[in-house]
Amino acid sequence: MRTPVVMGNWKLNGTKATVADLIKTFAGVANDAANVDVAICAPALYIGQVESLATGSKLKWGSEDCDVHTTGAFTGELSPSMLKNEFNCTYAIVGHSERRGYHAETNEVVAAKFKAAQDNGLVPVLCIGESEAEFDAGKTLDVCKAEIKAVIDLCGIDAFKNAIIAYEPIWAIGTGKTATPEIAQNTHKGIREFLKTFSAEVADGVRILYGGSCNAKTAPELFSQADIDGGLIGGASLKAPDFTAIIEAAKANA
Ligand code: PEP
Repeated sequence: MRTPVVMGNWKLNGTKATVADLIKTFAGVANDAANVDVAICAPALYIGQVESLATGSKLKWGSEDCDVHTTGAFTGELSPSMLKNEFNCTYAIVGHSERRGYHAETNEVVAAKFKAAQDNGLVPVLCIGESEAEFDAGKTLDVCKAEIKAVIDLCGIDAFKNAIIAYEPIWAIGTGKTATPEIAQNTHKGIREFLKTFSAEVADGVRILYGGSCNAKTAPELFSQADIDGGLIGGASLKAPDFTAIIEAAKANA
């Protein structure tokens, strides 16, 4: 049985005041969600504040990206060892489509970030997913497999024993066009079948989250699908009632 995960991705949003309000609320909600892992990935500037407010609760936190280097002459970068050792992050998102798109991160760069995160004790959350044109061309699984394969090539299949995959169709992110439960389930199943060609144990154990305009209304049916183990939530994780309702949907399927 895979423990569901509900993870917020705040992107470049928030103020010290909204961080304080939301984290206090979500710490309480996480404490009441015994069978669900709840986490917030916050803008780097707020991670210390999140740590102060969430420590002692069941709420975990993480970064939205990390660099491949831990220290040195890399101006502006985000060190995985600092995230883990100085700020007690549990997770690091890697390969979000906004990073792949706006920062030209290739599959190989994302795989290197995955490795750096894991080598430094963080749980990488590998984002994968196709563009609208690729979806229309029926290439969804080809894209997802290539994005995963780059990680397997660098880190080996067992790296997914301590990692999370987030399937996030790019056409669904921030657009209000949530993938239907059927589309999402078919893709998640295909991803699991692909992993099974390397290791049945890994395929059965790895948690695969859905992300892309998942909200309080769409979460219950998405989370009830056999291969969907929770969600990576953007916009709705900035609204306390919506994120709380999404956690409730995960509880119902735990
Ligand atoms: C995301 O960016 O990871 C995401 C899922 O965003 P949204 O929920 O806003 O579509």
